[in-house]
Amino acid sequence: MPVLPIRITGEPVLHAIAEPVVAFDQTLRTLVDDMFETMAEAPGVGLAAPQVGVGLRLFVYNWIDDDEIQWRGVAINPELWLAPTPIGEPDDDEESEGCLSLPGERFALRRSPRVILRATDLDHRTFEIEADGWLARIFQHEYDHLDGTLYSDRLDHARSKAAAKVIRKKGWGVADQSWLPGEDDLEG
Ligand code: ZN
Repeated sequence: MPVLPIRITGEPVLHAIAEPVVAFDQTLRTLVDDMFETMAEAPGVGLAAPQVGVGLRLFVYNWIDDDEIQWRGVAINPELWLAPTPIGEPDDDEESEGCLSLPGERFALRRSPRVILRATDLDHRTFEIEADGWLARIFQHEYDHLDGTLYSDRLDHARSKAAAKVIRKKGWGVADQSWLPGEDDLEG
């Protein structure tokens, strides 16, 4: 199972609406296995297919919550319901988010505190998870990837300017850029 290169912001597949998964076949299983391995190596708590260059509606996640419960799985063709997002300035300590497609950067962003995820697993079974806290944030972040939205697209004015500056400085924001977890140390 290879670790896949992770696309960096500017790559068109990251900014396009992904297509529904229709073939629940061995190719899909291999992709999901590779995505789990890539997420572990990165390391990250979530990874969406467009981030590895595949424009399909699925993501993987792996998160241990405050009660030491591990949430690990794949969400295929997900739907997401969001409780209202509280109005106000995000907290730079408590609400700082990162993305493997903007490696090494973090910016604070308000998210809904509670969501319901409904999706299909690899065996085409539907499941539903009611999530709050950081898991709810992960689901919103990964779901956004399937609609071509990065968290940097959702930042408030000041943080959006700061993110744009970083993207310019690092030479991102153009096509054909990626990094390989385990080889390129972009998180450091
Ligand atoms: Zn991301």
